[in-house]
Amino acid sequence: MSAVVALCYHGVSDRWPSPMAVTPAQLHDQVSHFLRRGYRAATVAEAASARASERLLVVSFDDALASVHRLGLPVLESLGAVATVYAPTDPILSGTPMTWPEVAEHLATEHAAELDGMTVDELADVARRGWEVGSHTCSHPWLPTLSDADLARELRRSRHLLQEALDLPCRTLAYPFGAHDARVAAAAAAAGYEAAVTLPARVAAWPRTPSALERMTLPRIGVYRADERLRFRLKVAAPVRALRASPAWAAVGAARRSAR
Ligand SMILES: [Zn+2]
Repeated sequence: MSAVVALCYHGVSDRWPSPMAVTPAQLHDQVSHFLRRGYRAATVAEAASARASERLLVVSFDDALASVHRLGLPVLESLGAVATVYAPTDPILSGTPMTWPEVAEHLATEHAAELDGMTVDELADVARRGWEVGSHTCSHPWLPTLSDADLARELRRSRHLLQEALDLPCRTLAYPFGAHDARVAAAAAAAGYEAAVTLPARVAAWPRTPSALERMTLPRIGVYRADERLRFRLKVAAPVRALRASPAWAAVGAARRSAR
């Protein structure tokens, strides 16, 4: 059994005054908060199938923004931590910025370049360093609104294209906007994903031993620019408390004690 805390980020920037970005200093502070407490950084795929009795920290970045390679990667490397990056294949493989309606407001500002995605070479670079590259669909749609055929295409084609581009298995998926329902989760499993991550409005704890169904709706905690030190610690305290009250935590404690 494992005790997992999963964080969801987007961009990393010192200048972009958007909720979608944290500063490099925030990222460093937040990740080291967990590492100091005995958590080990793991990818989503590893954490979803983890059986080891240890505390795992999952750091994930939705949208595969270029700033994550430029500013996030050095921070995590300095801490010896890996992460998972979720790439929407339409903008990433065509080298165009993210343009869906929810982010388009930024394109008209001086911060438009913050919506540039990583190149395929940059994705390959993070993969070489032990990061996981997962799918964030092709066009970043609201999946529950799609027809069965369009839903299957978004899930299957993005997975296939990433595997082709990186010559690596594409094991997990992040639902755009975290939006999913039972039909979407079933389609994700049918498309071959081992696990999929969400972004619930209320902070939820990662299940102790995820069932096949739970693996398709693994919850992450969204972290935003407004999450300064105290606010971040309060936000992550609830799932950590839930873990502590669980048998998983007792197993972790016993394993740690016997390992000493
Ligand atoms: Zn996204």
